[in-house]
Amino acid sequence: GAQRESKVRVRAHFDYNPDEDPYIPCKEAGLAFQRGDVLHIVGQDDAYWWQARKEHERSARAGLIPSRALQERRILHDRSQREGTDLDSKQNDDFDREQIATYEEVAKLYPRPGVFRPVVLIGAPGVGRNELRRRLIARDPEKFRSPVPYTTRPMRTGEVAGREYIFVAREKMDADIEAGKFVEHGEYKGHLYGTSAESVKSIVNAGCVCVISPHYQAIKTLRTAQLKPFLIHVKPPELDVLKATRTEARAKSTFDEANARSFTDEEFEDMIKSAERIDFLYGHFFDVEIVNGELVNSFEQLVQNVQRLENEPLWAPSMWVQ
Ligand code: 5GP
Repeated sequence: GAQRESKVRVRAHFDYNPDEDPYIPCKEAGLAFQRGDVLHIVGQDDAYWWQARKEHERSARAGLIPSRALQERRILHDRSQREGTDLDSKQNDDFDREQIATYEEVAKLYPRPGVFRPVVLIGAPGVGRNELRRRLIARDPEKFRSPVPYTTRPMRTGEVAGREYIFVAREKMDADIEAGKFVEHGEYKGHLYGTSAESVKSIVNAGCVCVISPHYQAIKTLRTAQLKPFLIHVKPPELDVLKATRTEARAKSTFDEANARSFTDEEFEDMIKSAERIDFLYGHFFDVEIVNGELVNSFEQLVQNVQRLENEPLWAPSMWVQ
């Protein structure tokens, strides 16, 4: 038709089911969606109900979804209700979650020849994100590289400055962290460790794929228009598969040393709980999820996703696309 279509696309940061929504004007007119779905917003005339279509179902009809303003009000309302009854909701971590997760405007980010977005592997400790990173680098060390971390601990015999670590004074690293020069950092046995934004950028500028596997809290610092990270959640499979694959891997020595040690049942259960926590806090930020059951399969998925990154336009925050 002659009407101009809206170009607005958003990624939903929550699940929505009109059948369970007592306030929707007409349930049949509602559009159900899941967190992570990309929605094409075709009408924003009403303050409370937008008209939208699922991006991956182009032929399907448009339906009603809560507007950003309505969803924000609902989240704030739910939160104040919960705070009265459930002290757990005040757990520290909850404040890590993006304040009010509703919709994020997205646009297609086209690959640029020779300029690769950093690949960031996030996952609960023990699930295997570090191993996947090492395998990617081992497969093609000219192409995939990890930055050399900084540390304030003293150099050990056999180590070479700039090879294992870049060794710096505590005062210098404290100041640089304060100045926002690190994309992630942590403390271990009284010493600081971290990855600088500059070292990520220099790998990108050299035309390589920068691969890092930081603590999940680094997502907040990393997710910028400047770095444009491709975020992967490396998840554990169900408990029985998790146990079976690790036990088998240990027998066949397919996992590397760190993952070849035996885990207790409690540690396996912690991995799953911790993965659920990461999903709750940051699930809406991941570009892909890889379930790390059989390592051969998950590594193959990782390789395929890196290829997509090189060849396909992918949805990213519209602020990153200029
Ligand atoms: P080591 O001092 O034995 O070389 O390393 C001890 C620990 O430092 C590692 O197990 C790891 O937890 C941590 N570490 C090493 N590199 C980094 C890094 O780049 N960032 C963070 N946050 N921790 C690191």
